Amino acid sequence: MLDCIVVGAGPAGGSAAYHLARRDRQVLLLEQAQLPRQKACAGGVSPQVARWFDCDLRSVVDHGVDRLRFTWKLGDPVEAELPSEEPFWMVRRDRFDHFLVEQAANLGARIEDGAAVTAVSAEGDGWLVTVGDRAYRSRTLIAADGARGPLAQWLGFPSQKRRYAQACELDVPLPARPDSTAHFEFGLVRNGYIWVFPKSDGYSIGIGTFRGNDATDFRGLLETYLAGFGVSADLDRIVPHPLCVWDGSQPLHRGSALLVGEAASLTDPFTAEGIRPALLSGMRAAEAIDRAIAGDRNALAGYSRTIQQEWGDSMAWAKRISSVFYRVPNLGYQIGIKRPTAPQRMAQILVGELDYSDIATRVIRRLTTGFLPGMR
Ligand SMILES: Cc1cc2nc3c(=O)[nH]c(=O)nc-3n(C[C@H](O)[C@H](O)[C@H](O)COP(=O)(O)OP(=O)(O)OC[C@H]3O[C@@H](n4cnc5c(N)ncnc54)[C@H](O)[C@@H]3O)c2cc1C
Repeated sequence: MLDCIVVGAGPAGGSAAYHLARRDRQVLLLEQAQLPRQKACAGGVSPQVARWFDCDLRSVVDHGVDRLRFTWKLGDPVEAELPSEEPFWMVRRDRFDHFLVEQAANLGARIEDGAAVTAVSAEGDGWLVTVGDRAYRSRTLIAADGARGPLAQWLGFPSQKRRYAQACELDVPLPARPDSTAHFEFGLVRNGYIWVFPKSDGYSIGIGTFRGNDATDFRGLLETYLAGFGVSADLDRIVPHPLCVWDGSQPLHRGSALLVGEAASLTDPFTAEGIRPALLSGMRAAEAIDRAIAGDRNALAGYSRTIQQEWGDSMAWAKRISSVFYRVPNLGYQIGIKRPTAPQRMAQILVGELDYSDIATRVIRRLTTGFLPGMR
């Protein structure tokens, strides 16, 4: 019997398989797509994640960002240098995610792609995982199957706490390598923003909304923005993708099964950052399973607590900031982004040097008093 089956080969599943294989655990990683697989994503990653891996993740960094530029309806710009020594990473998800899977395989993990899990059921002390007409047995299970994956529901985790954001992304090739500025536009989109991130051979351009379920004209908004930005792109290709954003603390363990990454709704509800929490949760899940197999009965419950402490506490503040900021974004922009220190703080959050809890009370106080007549 295997020690663990990991379902999904995104950053959460790749990280879990890597850290389990590194501890000599027998792990099988099942991915429904053919690897390397494409993933719609802007690919911005905090360099902070490098310290969680022995392998050289920097070898798959495509470009770096050391400057942020914010605008409101294409005007009123604010710029900031990133404070960290190392630029914010820009990665290509097919390469980045696959690199991690290959590293896990080098350490002994078994990888099967084109393997869509069709059912899971508890069997004795472990799990029976079905892929079409094949079945695999394991002592533990990690659901890393992302925002659209079925495992959380199949495993009986409460589904009512799933909150969805949505985002579209497209790559726009350029004849020359763009500079190292990431652009964020807040005024055109209700409850969200447009981004332009530099890649080695062009831009990743996208749009996301984080609150409410209103139908958003992503295509029309991007058309307006790109005309102002001076770039043309074929917008026929854009499709909205769901993101499971953090919406409150919830147990991430059930029996000997754990949820990681977007399957655990860990994505930042203010910025949509999901790669860092996916890598973190994959690593912490692997550590917990390693301890559980070694006999620690509290290890899996400890995983839920650890993620809450190391990520959820900060996300609780991100959720509050998001709800205040996106409710009245013009005020949010004036009070939250245009303050002299604000872009620096935002940059520090993105690279992982600051936690939302370090700035949240002040930011929320400024934003909420900004709404009150006579208080600005
Ligand atoms: C447009 C867009 C832009 C984004 N930009 C950023 C960004 O710049 N920075 C950032 O940090 N985050 C960004 N995100 C969020 C980030 O992409 C996700 O949070 C991240 O991919 C989550 O990783 P994961 O491993 O949990 O899930 P995923 O990367 O979604 O991987 C899940 C995997 O599970 C597989 N799977 C699903 N069901 C099954 C099954 N039944 N059997 C087998 N395999 C299965 C899927 O095929 C998939 O490969 C963006 C998201 C979107 C949509």
